[in-house]
This record gives sequence, C-alpha cells and structure tokens, in this order.
Amino acid sequence: MEISQRLDELEWIPRPKVLALRRLGIETAEDLLTHYPRRYEDRHQFPEFPRDESDTPICLCGEVTKTRVLRFGGWKKIFEATLEEPNPNALSQPLTLRWFNLHYVQKMIATGQQLVVFGKPKLRGKRLCMDHPEFEVIENDPAEAGIHFRRITPIYPATEGLSQRVLRSIIYRLLNELSDAPLETLLPIELGRGDRRSAIRAIHFPEDWESLSAAREHLVLSEFFAMQMLIASRRAESQVRVGAAHCGPGELIEKFLRSLPFELTDAQRRVIAEIRRDLGANVPMNRLLQGDVGSGKTVVAIAAILLGIEAGFQAAFMAPTQILAEQHYAVLRRWLEPLGVRMSIRTASRQEENFLPLVAGDENPDVIIGTHALLYETISFSNLGLVVIDEQHKFGVAQRARLTAREPAPDVLVMTATPIPRTLTMTIYGDLDVSVIDEMPRNRGKIITAVREESKLVEVLGFLRTQLEGGRQIYVIYPLIDESEKLDVKAAATEYNLWRERLHPFRCELLHGRIPSPEKQEIMERFRSGETQVLISTTVIEVGVDVANATVMLIENAERFGLAQLHQLRGRIGRGEHKSYCILLSSDQSKETAMKLAVLEKTVDGFKVAEADWDLRGPGDLLGTAQSGLPALKIGNLKSDAQLMRRARTAAVSIFARDPRLELAENQRFQHLIVEQEGRTFSNVS
Ligand code: ADP
Ligand code: MG
Repeated sequence: MEISQRLDELEWIPRPKVLALRRLGIETAEDLLTHYPRRYEDRHQFPEFPRDESDTPICLCGEVTKTRVLRFGGWKKIFEATLEEPNPNALSQPLTLRWFNLHYVQKMIATGQQLVVFGKPKLRGKRLCMDHPEFEVIENDPAEAGIHFRRITPIYPATEGLSQRVLRSIIYRLLNELSDAPLETLLPIELGRGDRRSAIRAIHFPEDWESLSAAREHLVLSEFFAMQMLIASRRAESQVRVGAAHCGPGELIEKFLRSLPFELTDAQRRVIAEIRRDLGANVPMNRLLQGDVGSGKTVVAIAAILLGIEAGFQAAFMAPTQILAEQHYAVLRRWLEPLGVRMSIRTASRQEENFLPLVAGDENPDVIIGTHALLYETISFSNLGLVVIDEQHKFGVAQRARLTAREPAPDVLVMTATPIPRTLTMTIYGDLDVSVIDEMPRNRGKIITAVREESKLVEVLGFLRTQLEGGRQIYVIYPLIDESEKLDVKAAATEYNLWRERLHPFRCELLHGRIPSPEKQEIMERFRSGETQVLISTTVIEVGVDVANATVMLIENAERFGLAQLHQLRGRIGRGEHKSYCILLSSDQSKETAMKLAVLEKTVDGFKVAEADWDLRGPGDLLGTAQSGLPALKIGNLKSDAQLMRRARTAAVSIFARDPRLELAENQRFQHLIVEQEGRTFSNVS
C-alpha cells in the first residue's frame, strides 16, 4: 500500500466510516496519518476521584452505577449518569456526569459500563458534577485493549458517526498496513535526524511522553520547513525576474521634504534609505513597510513614488477603501502638484454592485491612485515602475500578484499597520524584505482609553459636549462589524437621529458603506473641514483616515470588535497635538471582554496589543486562508513553536542561498516538496 491510497478502496473500513472521514476532509491514507491527535490521555493509571472542583480538566475512569433522565420545560432534558471509582475508599464520593439535550448520549451510556471521562469537576450544591464531559465506553475486547488502554492514548478531532474508538482503531490498523510503504523524510540534516515513519507512528501511539515530544518536534519542523521552502522559492523566483532600476537622483524628494510642515523621524529616514537602495537595484523590490497606526507611512510611500517618477516611471498607489484612496489623492495633490507631478484616481471596483469606473485627474498621470479598481486597470499603465499597496493586510496575496506580475517587474512596496509578532512576519510576509518604522512623530497628543458601561452613557455625553465646545471633533463608531453584513438602514437612521438629539446643536453626519461614492466623499470632506463635528460611522473609517482635529472616538458595543480592529480604529485619533480620548462602550460584563478591553486601556503600542491579542485569542488559523497564500498548518503552532519556525526558516534560507534552483543532488528531493505545498495552497484558495 502507498500513502496515497484512497480510503474508499479499502474494504476493511466500513462505508459509513469512510463517509464520516470524508466530512473531516480525510480521503487518503496520508490524510488520515496527518489527522493528528488533539490531546492524549495517560491511561496507564487513572487518578483517584477528586474531592473538589477544578479549573483544569481531568481524566478519570469508573463504573456507571445509575442513570436517569430529568425533563423540564417540554422537550428539554438532562441526562445524568453516576460514576463511581473502581476501588472506592472511605473518602471517595461519586461523580455526576450531566448532558443537556444531547439525546444520543443517553443511548450510549448504561448502568454497569466502564467509562473514561475527561472534563472539569464542578460543585453543584453538594454534588461534584462534570457537565458535558468527553467520554469513551470501555469495551472488553482483549484484542483491542492495547490500542485503547494501558498506554498514552490519542484523542482525535472527531465528528458525528465516528467515535474516538473507531477512529483510533482505523488509524492503528492503517499504520500497520503501511509499515512497508515508502515514506520520505524531507528534512535537512541540520534540522534533525529523526525519520518521518517513526515520528508518524509515535505521534499517534507514543511509547512515552519523551518520544511523543520528539516526534512532535520532528513533524512540526517538517511542516514549517516545507512552508519556509515554499516561501524561499517564491522569493528566489521574484529575484530572478527581470527588473529595472527605478530611482531618480532624489532632487524631488529634497523639495518635497522641505515643503513639509514637519521633520521626518529618524525611523522614517532610515526606511526611505532602505527603499532607495532597492529602487536603485536591478532586482525587483519586494518590501514590506511595517509601522503602527499614525507612524507616518504615507510620507515614506510618497518619497518612494517621487524617486520612481524622477527616473521616468509611473507609480500605482492602491488602498483598500474608497475613502482612503480619496484621502491619499487629496494629500498627494496638495503636496505633489506644486512639484509638477500629475495624478489621477480610479475608484469604483467590480466588487461594487454597479460597476462604474470613477476616473478623475490627469490624462497622462505619473501616479495613479485607486482602490481594487486598479487591479482591472489595463490601459493606463504604460510605464509602471513602482506599486505601493497601503494596508496590505486588507488585500489577498493573489490581488497583490495581479498588480505586480507584469513584465518587466515593477518594484513593490506593501505597507501595513497591523503589527504582528515576528514569527508571523517571517511566515506571512516571509517572501518580503521588511522595513519597520519603530518610532512615532514627536508632538503627538496622548491617547487616553477608557472602558465604560453602556449605562454610563449620560456621563459620557457630558464629556463629549465639553470636547465639542472646546472645538474638537468626534467619531462615533456604529457597531456594525463588517460592511458586507447587511446594513439595517432603518436602525442606522434611528441611531443617527438619536445622536443628533443628544449632541444638539453640534452637527452630526452618518457614514457607511452603502452610501453612494460621491456622497461619501462629500461627507468626509465636510468632516475634514470641520463643517460637521461628529461623524457617526461604521468601520469604513477603520483604516488610514487622517483628521488631526478629531480627538474623541466613542466605540459602541466595543466587545463585538477584535483587539486588532479596535487598535486600528483608535488609530484615527491622537493624530494631532491635542490630547485624545477613546471611549469603549460595552454592556458585556464577561471576564473575556473585560480582559480584552483592558489591554487597550493599558497600552497604545500596536505591538503590545498584537501580543496580547495572541495570548487571549491564539493566532487562529491565520495561514489557512486564501488571504495568506500559504497552506494551513496541521500540527505546528505559530506561537508556541516560534523557535522551531526560526530554525526552519534559517535552514530554508541557507539552502536557497547556496542553491537557488535546487539543482544540487542533495537538494533535488525538495523540488516536489515545494510543488506539493503550492498545491495545498491552491486547494486552500479555491
Ligand atoms: P500611517 O502610518 O498610519 O499611515 P500617516 O501616514 O497617515 O500614518 O501619518 C499620520 C499623520 O502624521 C499625517 O497627518 C502625517 O502628515 C503626519 N506625519 C507623518 N510624519 C510625520 C512626522 N515625522 N512628524 C509629524 N507628523 C508626521
Ligand atoms: Mg496609512
């Protein structure tokens, strides 16, 4: 048998189980072997029954001595099973297992059975209960006992119609049947000497905890290494593309900088120098510019654009929202028209319902600014030398490629404010060189952040009024998370009217994604000029918007937003010299929400927010999305295995440095590893 063996062709796997496996996305032997356990139970010996509740789940084994069903409120049911210790002592007390409205459990558990359970014991009155524990019924089949008991037992991500026991037995048998199948170890020597076959066996059925941890390390390294080889190969590919130098002498920059009302920060100077080096080289630039909200990335982008224009090339500047594109257009016109730079803007994109390209500006532009609409632009780029993508995290890798995959290759600068921990940068943006603006402009007013209960709104209103009377402006963020979420126009209008009354006589306007484009722009313009003082808005203003006099942001239902998004939103204030205030209104009293929002009260540093976000939420499967252009991880954890990711990256980078085409005998074997990774990415996207 080969590891590519399809499971539906194996007679010993019952048909319904094949279907259940398919629901988990498992179709081949290899899929099943890489369906890794999510945890393990040491079933050599079980602990005594607890006397007290506990916040960490525990694994126990006992006998069911009683079951009963309690009904309440019509169809609702509680199924209870009493579990007793096999060798009770004087202090032992039984444990009550409880399931609410789970009819199938009742059919599986009967008096006299032996059960293994896993869950948190909690005191309910005088009884010690375990609600919805994971459980497994012990069947006294001596032939199979060694698979399920007296060992470290794997517990899998399972699905309905496929019990732990059945899944475990199938994997056990499969491992035996595959004991002679070819299974290549695709790891360079410097990452370890283990082999894949024994690692796969040990990850499912470890002899002891040490061999489990060694096996896991081997498999995580293999996974990370494969991913880093894919990234390194993409990077090598872009470096052999035909590019050109797109760098003028720098006189335009000098003029531009002299006209600015502020001095660049040292960090801005440093990253401009880095970009300038890239622009001057024949190899196409692929650079990520990372800098927290408000760190001044636009000025850096403009400097890059000017260098390109001076060398005789066009530049494209893409932003994720129309509001931001319009803003960039206005800023560039203000700063660059005096220097004789010609500009135009393209906004409506095909994603919008009525496709209506909005074009304005010069017919023969040096810089074309726009939204996704630029992706469909075919004619206007006669001589594209530089592509700048603002708020890169709002675009997918495929979109970036669409704009930059032309011959000859333009230089590419992508910018993002989403501060992400380093392991993530070297993965998600691993094919890019990275520049970081790690310094904020001086003379920025402080941002104070405070979490308030919704019921305190009256006091908050008093505060807002004093700010308005002092001449400041306010954003009120309407709790609509996603623009694609159907906007209840009526609710928005009601809310808006309410705010107009509350803040009378100050002028409010409402802004959201469904407002037609020219109108949106006018609303923004009136706010920018100070004609309106309050902008009631959805998250359309999340990225990029820059109005220095707006110093207060009130976010309603703050608990509905993620930390990163709240930080981005908050980045709209604190952009001028005045002290700014971000008020997070929430009626959710849960511990999770309190902890999440407290992070923002404590820090305005985007990196710290990102780290805390990671701690609270975990990275999720950031990679397993079409956005990332990378395959999903099956075993590695970007956070806890960061060290292994660094090792994998170092190894991949050094292989490509020595052998960019993987032609050496010892490296040829990695070629199909990359092809296979590319395939997994593709299936991710489709
Ligand atoms: P972001 O990095 O979030 O895109 P912007 O480029 O929008 O930030 O810059 C935020 C504001 O700070 C803008 O109004 C910009 O003109 C201003 N700014 C940029 N660099 C400096 C600086 N060195 N000193 C003072 N203000 C600056
Ligand atoms: Mg910006």
